Amino acid sequence: MITAAAMAIGCSADINPEDVNVAAYKDGKECAVSFTFDDGMKEHYTIVAPELEKRGFRGTFWLCCAWIHDDPQIDTTHITWDEAREMARNGHEMSNHSWSHPNLTELSDEDALLEMTRNDEAIAGQIGERPVTFCFPYNAYNEERVAMAMEGRIGARLKEFWFGGQHSPDEYLHKQIEDALASGSWIAGMTHGINYGYDCYETDPSGFTRFLDYVKEREDRIWVGTFRDVAGYTKAAEAVCLNTEKKGNGLVISPAMPENALLKDVVLTMEVASEEGFTAEQDGRKLDVTVRNGKSYFDFNPFGGNIILR
Ligand SMILES: [Zn+2]
Repeated sequence: MITAAAMAIGCSADINPEDVNVAAYKDGKECAVSFTFDDGMKEHYTIVAPELEKRGFRGTFWLCCAWIHDDPQIDTTHITWDEAREMARNGHEMSNHSWSHPNLTELSDEDALLEMTRNDEAIAGQIGERPVTFCFPYNAYNEERVAMAMEGRIGARLKEFWFGGQHSPDEYLHKQIEDALASGSWIAGMTHGINYGYDCYETDPSGFTRFLDYVKEREDRIWVGTFRDVAGYTKAAEAVCLNTEKKGNGLVISPAMPENALLKDVVLTMEVASEEGFTAEQDGRKLDVTVRNGKSYFDFNPFGGNIILR
């Protein structure tokens, strides 16, 4: 005869401390893709952001604030502050590409720092949030400039694949995605103009939305996140330590995380190599457990208290 107590023990015995890990990416996705857009072009507001939003994606837009003018007499090829604020409100990341787009490796330390901080202050003043990521103009950097840019930030774009027209036929783009899936990597795509301007699609602007659709079709395996969100997740996932013990008929997981104000809002996904039904709670709150491909996943606060599985 099977008693209730025996059933409870039988159930919990299926989860062991070694079955519990922080997932490499949010929701246990196999790889991550960040769509990033350089130079604050007007089409980023009129075309890119709406196309991303239609698919539930959010992008990262690298702004040079010297190029942003609210007066159409001065410039119509870049976004305005009203547009930048609207994009930020809709969940896009508006971040730092230096104040005026110089090659930062050719400037003095003082001038390079000013290019970064002046742009930070302009974005913080206009949008209300100081950028925590950075993108080098011309993708030009060296060790000193990377160290300078990383001060007070969680990430800088140091490697990218182009998804602008001339550089990126469909087969090339598909291969970027398939390679990322195969290697479990985080990749950042970059582009500038869509119909006009530097590196635009020229003859076939539909290449842009075709690529978004290709990624969307694989969304169950790919995390599409802003550069800030993926950088924050991967940094926190690396930093957190889990102490996991069996207790009674459950498991107690104690996360330990070094103080880091830049990561304070990051939520991590736990991956449990079991599809047995269990409940999870942290700090008295029940956590949503989902089962996929024989594993269970739930989000937790890496700065929070003990997580109890039973
Ligand atoms: Zn640029």
